[in-house]
Amino acid sequence: MPASTTAPASPVAPTVERTFGARRDRAAASARQAAIGALLVAPGSDLAYLCGHRIHTSERMTCLVIAASGSATLVVPELEAPRARHAAPGIDIRTWGETDDPVALVAGLVPPDGSVALDDRMWASFVLRLQAALPQRRFSAASPVTTTLRVIKDDDEIARLRAVSASADRAYARIRERAFSGRAERDVSREIGELLRSEGHDEVGFAIVASGPNGASPHHEAGDRVIGPGDAIVLDFGGTMAWYSSDITRTVHVGASVDADVRRVHDVVLRAQEAGYSAAREGATAESVDAAARAVIDDAGYGAFFIHRLGHGIGLDGHETPYLVRGNTERLAPGMAFSIEPGIYLPGRFGVRIEDIAVLGRDGRAEPLNNADRSLAVVS
Ligand code: ZN
Ligand code: ZN
Ligand code: ZN
Repeated sequence: MPASTTAPASPVAPTVERTFGARRDRAAASARQAAIGALLVAPGSDLAYLCGHRIHTSERMTCLVIAASGSATLVVPELEAPRARHAAPGIDIRTWGETDDPVALVAGLVPPDGSVALDDRMWASFVLRLQAALPQRRFSAASPVTTTLRVIKDDDEIARLRAVSASADRAYARIRERAFSGRAERDVSREIGELLRSEGHDEVGFAIVASGPNGASPHHEAGDRVIGPGDAIVLDFGGTMAWYSSDITRTVHVGASVDADVRRVHDVVLRAQEAGYSAAREGATAESVDAAARAVIDDAGYGAFFIHRLGHGIGLDGHETPYLVRGNTERLAPGMAFSIEPGIYLPGRFGVRIEDIAVLGRDGRAEPLNNADRSLAVVS
């Protein structure tokens, strides 16, 4: 899904302010352990997570500097200062004017010891200038610190994921009632976006409508194909509400006379998802959950047609850690949120995918946040 450029104003309730302060304290503690002198965080989800300010990336440098000592400074262009003060009232803000050098300002806030850890998503133009301004320093990635913090969701984040998932469920329940036959995929996609907004989403990230043979391409972009009777249609859509992401997939069928292969494949995918839910327990490796779902599809003879990982983490970003994929030995822990989305894609024929967002509860089991009917819905 594309990065968002607009975002609603951030919450500034005192409890929320305390939350952001506590997150920065944890980030500073992790930085000390990793011999990092300062974390330099660029606009994006890490910055939103650590100070409550969601600001677009631009050629004007904005950077949150968290020193290992725990002090935090948000460097912003002067014209963005009013917004930043409103969004992040509990943080020290330093501004630079149009003719000032923001890189020198940021470099001056970096303490003398330890590595300089940079946000994965900082623009290369800023990275190169920072490296030139701090020639003797070792640079590293901030992501080991920030992903470790973000991968475990707190109660407020889980509540937001629950709410945005429920909103996506309602949009699905409504699109099922609409007529599909005779309409272009693009038209249905646009309507799904409208339904997401009317059910509470602030932004629509994507709405895949992949009908008939187009369903065999997992990330098919909705196009001009006109939907007709006998089509299986993969509907995969999501966006954000109060900053947190949704992502749901259901497969529907136009008309009640369903090809036996479509039914069989849908049943296999559903059983694969159930196996994924059963395997997603506290302490299980991420790859073992993928393997459990994949075994169901392999046993049914469709292994060659499940051509992507089982799932991805979700939160402030639509895709983030943990990734449920072979080779990832990361262990699942309560508070992790991720998709479980097996699929089978038969080239030239059709595709089936079923996707929920799940959260690992304190009881160590995966709870679905999407509860929309998973059966093969017949639409008109
Ligand atoms: Zn995808
Ligand atoms: Zn999806
Ligand atoms: Zn997904």
